Amino acid sequence: MSNAKSLEELEQKQDFIRRHIGPSPAQVSDMLSALEVSSVQELIDQTVPASIRLEQPLTVGQSRTEVETLSYLKSVASKNKVFKSYIGQGYHPTNVPHVILRNVLENPGWYTAYTPYQPEIAQGRLESLLNFQTMTLDLTGLDLASASLLDESTAAAEAMGLAKRVSKAKKANAFFIADDVHTQTIDVVTTRAEQFGFEIIVGKAEDAVNHDIFGALFQYPTTSGEVVDITDLIAGVQSKKAIACVAADIMSLLLLKAPGKLGADVVLGSAQRFGVPMGYGGPHAAFFATRDAYKRSLPGRIIGVSKDRLGNDALRMAMQTREQHIRRDKANSNICTAQVLLANMAAFYAVYHGPQGLKTIAQRIHRFADILASGLKAKGIALKHSTWFDTLTVVSDSKDDVIARAIAKGVNFATNHEGEYSISVSETTTRADITELFDIILGEGHGLSVDAIAADVEANGSESIPASLVRDDEVLTHPNFNSYHSETDILRYIKRLESKDLSLNHSMISLGSCTMKLNATAEMIPITWPEFANLHPFCPLDQAEGYQIMINELHDWLVNITGYDAVSLQPNSGAQGEYAGLIAIRKYHESRGDAHRNVCLIPSSAHGTNPASAQMASMKIVVVNCDKNGNVDMSDLKAKAEEVSENLSCIMITYPSTHGVYEETIREICDIIHEHGGQVYMDGANMNAQVGVTSPGFIGSDVSHLNLHKTFCIPHGGGGPGVGPIGVKSHLAPFMPNHSVINVPGTNIGNGAVSAAPYGSAAILPISWAYITMMGSEGLKQATEMAIVNANYLTHELSKHFPILYRGRNNRVAHECIVDLRPLKELSGITEMDVAKRLQDYGFHSPTMSFPVAGTLMIEPTESESKGEIDRFIEAMVSIKGEIEKVISGEWSIENNPLVFAPHTQGDVLGNEWDRAYDRFYAAFPVPAVAKNKFWPTVTRIDDVYGDRNLVCSCPAVETYRD
Ligand SMILES: *Cc1c(COP(=O)(O)O)cnc(C)c1O
Repeated sequence: MSNAKSLEELEQKQDFIRRHIGPSPAQVSDMLSALEVSSVQELIDQTVPASIRLEQPLTVGQSRTEVETLSYLKSVASKNKVFKSYIGQGYHPTNVPHVILRNVLENPGWYTAYTPYQPEIAQGRLESLLNFQTMTLDLTGLDLASASLLDESTAAAEAMGLAKRVSKAKKANAFFIADDVHTQTIDVVTTRAEQFGFEIIVGKAEDAVNHDIFGALFQYPTTSGEVVDITDLIAGVQSKKAIACVAADIMSLLLLKAPGKLGADVVLGSAQRFGVPMGYGGPHAAFFATRDAYKRSLPGRIIGVSKDRLGNDALRMAMQTREQHIRRDKANSNICTAQVLLANMAAFYAVYHGPQGLKTIAQRIHRFADILASGLKAKGIALKHSTWFDTLTVVSDSKDDVIARAIAKGVNFATNHEGEYSISVSETTTRADITELFDIILGEGHGLSVDAIAADVEANGSESIPASLVRDDEVLTHPNFNSYHSETDILRYIKRLESKDLSLNHSMISLGSCTMKLNATAEMIPITWPEFANLHPFCPLDQAEGYQIMINELHDWLVNITGYDAVSLQPNSGAQGEYAGLIAIRKYHESRGDAHRNVCLIPSSAHGTNPASAQMASMKIVVVNCDKNGNVDMSDLKAKAEEVSENLSCIMITYPSTHGVYEETIREICDIIHEHGGQVYMDGANMNAQVGVTSPGFIGSDVSHLNLHKTFCIPHGGGGPGVGPIGVKSHLAPFMPNHSVINVPGTNIGNGAVSAAPYGSAAILPISWAYITMMGSEGLKQATEMAIVNANYLTHELSKHFPILYRGRNNRVAHECIVDLRPLKELSGITEMDVAKRLQDYGFHSPTMSFPVAGTLMIEPTESESKGEIDRFIEAMVSIKGEIEKVISGEWSIENNPLVFAPHTQGDVLGNEWDRAYDRFYAAFPVPAVAKNKFWPTVTRIDDVYGDRNLVCSCPAVETYRD
């Protein structure tokens, strides 16, 4: 192996690893010298407790180059058969406008941003999300909308939760679901109801009023396509003081009366067919709207309009104290990561097409459905309904023959309802397609002419939408939806918004616990391949062979990496993984006759989604204290475990802890829980400090979620998408989510679903697949080690200027550290918020602020940042410390200094008046490096209180644009 040629080969194999890992070998040795260790190994030995170090290397294979990886994946993808999909049921083919495809979905400026926690440097995506909310409000006819939920079915489950909270029918414990709601939605809502202890009644929509219920869900149009006037159904539900929820098809709402106008209390649905590929099930954004009166109960994030320091309109997440992190077990929902990137795509689709363009698309779809229906009826084919928007259901005793002919022509219908099949036409349907559908259903030689039928339909009109339901109000009248219809204009609009946002393509985003690492281009390329993008989640499994191969490989690798026995890829966020994992724990206890075990121990340092998920699984939360070093207080843990022993369900623990240390007692913690008959849920958000070095399964945990959008390189998309697969030990495997439309191999029939699609957000799994393939066993381990090196170097340098709150063995930290700003605040009055905002002037996104400890910053550099970038960040922090010292010394007053006025916009520093104690140049260019690569915040500090007092959650009135 020592000859030159094989060395060359080895180097080539290493190709991707050294591109993923930021620091060069020389930089690594510099950092190691600073840390006074002679090798990476020595540092790891000092940092990671020996008792949890893996004895065997990972077995995910050798690192492969980008070229090899993509070429192999292409061959796998080509095993998918991309049939024309008329399956419908919540997923439709769509034409993704190319300008959006390339400049949003494929653009790191959009996909690498994080949730807009720092709104001054996120005005672009906040504006786009406000467009999404405005679009939702116009189309649904309601008052208040959120900035996306995970999918239509979970949005329906959230609607049920909201109904229970706000309904005045306090004694009722049942939720009604009309039997013509999408099958997967009934499934997901039923799973959720089981956890909450609600009864689910599925029946004919008209029967809702005959039950004692707190809420009901209708589908509009129904899953089989009927367009029913739901006004009376809604009124009936409300007459019982129950909440009426409607799952609506977004495209149909261009032509149909808004459900809000028909009286609905909640309207929700999927925005997928607004220009987001089906992607074998996701990711897509769900929309959700309700009445203003229920705003405190609305799940998910809301974008609102406020003012900045200078009185300009400025956007930010409204009512942030609603953030589930903060409300913990009082949270309305566990939603954290949502679907921001996809909500933005859908919003841009609406902006680009405008109200007229969208209406044309909807009318064309509807016209094709009319033509299809007219031809079929002329030939004596019985349709189940006399109304429709885009979906026809045929009641047929020759279903099998028709389906066989369809399959032979590469066409899929919906077939999961007995004795009938359904055909949903879409934006992509053409006249030739309608002819083909006639051929399939009627057999060739039917003699029908699409042109002739079209002329007939046009001449005579159609009554397939009842007159009472024809939409007559204007929608999307705001200028944002009426200004960018040429490609030049939309391109510049997309770019203008992008430029306002700081993403990973500008500088390091060191948000602790969020793992903002490289999202390599090669990992991103496959997701828009048609072979992955254009599959319907309910297509027959034999058409998805490529997906199955990729998913199975990923599954096996994740099993190896986590040390578990099985993995479910269905949950589409970390928090959904927590929920799925807790369900598995609960069902396991039930299966052993231990249904009473319902206490969940959660250390006080836990991420807010942990208690929020536990309350969704109806668990009783008992908080375990941490000691002064940030570790779980073992005596408190023992005492509490003892106290609740009989009823102990589980512990939820993050490892390494959110305090940034590898707790030495982790094995003991697992043992204590197991001794009391409980299960260990290890929150895997911090897997970036475990992969290849240790693993949850090896440590002794029973179940974990992973955040593929943290550790495994799926970009954060500005706040979603994500994938939160769970790994489990074999005893929990029977309790993992299945799906009522597509049976997920390896899970029990009858297990409920937690997501709308069987494999959740399948379309983005190739990203993690490619990451693991290109890194291989060795590269993955190196990534973990380098994350630890970078974090310790950063900690070491910052500790010369700031106290580091917690450290582990040998004074080391894991992959992140907490800088304590409270002593400086005490002395100066300068807050952690001032520091976060001043970092923007230096071109950086703030680290995680005040989590898990108020008054601190949690910093995670990841392995992808070079020493150069880390040094630049350190320089900024040190310079800011110097500024704080000037406040302490009295050189600057607490009212007049660059920290409290941060961030500085161009308008601020170039304004005619300047009465600051510091000069303009210093305000904007505090260190030389900034002058070379200046990122300008576009608004000054935002007034949150003003925005919450004057809640505006749709695009501001036109007048404010004229000012
Ligand atoms: C990010 C995170 C979560 C939640 O994951 P989402 O994908 O945002 O739902 C849970 N726990 C910890 C420790 C996290 O950092």
